[in-house]
Amino acid sequence: SRIAVLRERATGETRVSATPETVRKLIALGASLAVETGAGLGAAISDGEYLAAGAEVGQAEQVVSGANIVLGVQGPEPERLGGVAPGAWVVAALDPFGRRDRVSAYAAAGLEALAMELMPRITRAQSMDILSSQSNLAGYKAVLVAANLYGRAFPMMMTAAGTVSAAKAFVMGVGVAGLQAIATARRLGAQVSATDVRSATREQILSLGAKPIFVDTAQGIEGEGSGGYAGEISDDYRQAQAELVSAHLAKQDIVITTALIPGRPAPRLISDAQIADMKPGSVIFDLAAPQGGNVEGCVPDQVVERHGVKILGYANTPAHLPAEASALFARNLFNFVSAFWDKDQGKPVLDEEIGNAIRLTQGGKVIHAQLLG
Ligand code: NAD
Repeated sequence: SRIAVLRERATGETRVSATPETVRKLIALGASLAVETGAGLGAAISDGEYLAAGAEVGQAEQVVSGANIVLGVQGPEPERLGGVAPGAWVVAALDPFGRRDRVSAYAAAGLEALAMELMPRITRAQSMDILSSQSNLAGYKAVLVAANLYGRAFPMMMTAAGTVSAAKAFVMGVGVAGLQAIATARRLGAQVSATDVRSATREQILSLGAKPIFVDTAQGIEGEGSGGYAGEISDDYRQAQAELVSAHLAKQDIVITTALIPGRPAPRLISDAQIADMKPGSVIFDLAAPQGGNVEGCVPDQVVERHGVKILGYANTPAHLPAEASALFARNLFNFVSAFWDKDQGKPVLDEEIGNAIRLTQGGKVIHAQLLG
């Protein structure tokens, strides 16, 4: 197989879908690699390092020419894929529900589009899970950015001039990003609390040394939730949660929100009225900003000040840690390709479980169940 790695074109995207490490490993499998000039620059990887790893480096048209697999962080626009081999794979985060038009264009071009963000949450696919690897880094970065925006210190400090008290940090949504946010805020010395709708997270919060803030009067989501994902919650629960959280929010200095529901806009967790009750000088970082935001008034990539509270959420948080985000993303893609590599055919062949979950297009048609009907 010939594998092409394109330079990302989306605004603000700094990541790259293969690193010299994964290029070497893909070549060791039996593939040949072609990398677009400048593809790694955002992540501080030079063309020379790709060359040294054994890749061919060239202009986009030359790189995609005859490619059997095109790797990306975000989906490449179909017009950039002229000249690929018939039925070539496009492997990236393809935003299938946001970019249905592009999925149709992949189909029309005869490509097989594989949406890596739809990877099922099963044990054997964990090492291929781009959502987890990128959320983990995002949860860490969110706390650092919030700490910088905050005009005070995180840890309690006893100095000759007197004592500084610890910041209070509250994490809403305790998935992969939220767990890393809790751990990071704890390491910086904050007093941390956290909440989620899935009851299984209570133990996880405690085990990280943070305080769980949970609704006990209404039923949330039992245990882990399906695949670890939250579904919609009842109106009773929503109301009880809002009341509980309002009182708690008013005492916080730092709030990190991470709540997502697959296939839906992010749930609204903090209203402008709740922000008005918070302490001036507090900071909210909204990791759900790209999905519509958990926080009223959040505008991606802008520090918005409401009632003396600073609100920020990045459109693409992992892109603010380009080297690590690329390293992990690239390993997720390598783990995927290598897990399905068929030595005799010299290319990867998907099984049904994973194929059905991530394959959007095949044989000129859009075939994914969630995109039909
Ligand atoms: P996510 O990004 O979909 O959502 C973030 C969190 O927001 C979730 O914990 C969710 O329950 C929470 N949330 C949703 N609505 C909320 C609301 N109204 N109020 C408060 N919280 C709300 O989740 P994620 O980080 O992708 O992962 C969630 C779980 O899946 C984790 O427990 C993780 O360990 C598990 N997981 C399993 C695998 C695997 O087995 N392969 C892989 C990845 C993650």
